[in-house]
Amino acid sequence: MSADCIFCRIVRGEAPATIVYEDEHVIAFNDIHPKAPVHILIVPRRHIPSLAHVTPEDEPLLGHLLYVARHLAEEKDLLERGFRTTINTGPEGGQIIYHLHMHLLGGRPLGGMVR
Ligand code: AMP
Ligand code: ZN
Repeated sequence: MSADCIFCRIVRGEAPATIVYEDEHVIAFNDIHPKAPVHILIVPRRHIPSLAHVTPEDEPLLGHLLYVARHLAEEKDLLERGFRTTINTGPEGGQIIYHLHMHLLGGRPLGGMVR
């Protein structure tokens, strides 16, 4: 846990968010600046700064993030239409919040790789 991390504050219920899923390991909430009709962030409850900081013990958690993305995509009726999962890592990866999270985007054509 990190005292001034915004996603830790959301996990602790100290900052507002529209939570769409939660379990023992992760929570998911709507991005405040959505880039698509569906834009959800899937966030481990534990403070891990980025994908560059994970260890072998985190492998199940990483798989779980993807499976939760698939679950939410199904709930949003996106399995056939398609969707995108993204993890931004580090300065050149465009990471802004240094608490590991996966974006789930969908509900419009998202185009090519980098957009
Ligand atoms: P990145 O670190 O590049 O993956 O981007 C962080 C994402 O978190 C951006 O899409 C922001 O719009 C989003 N974000 C930042 N603060 C909040 C918040 N308090 N609640 C929901 N989403 C947020
Ligand atoms: Zn955090």
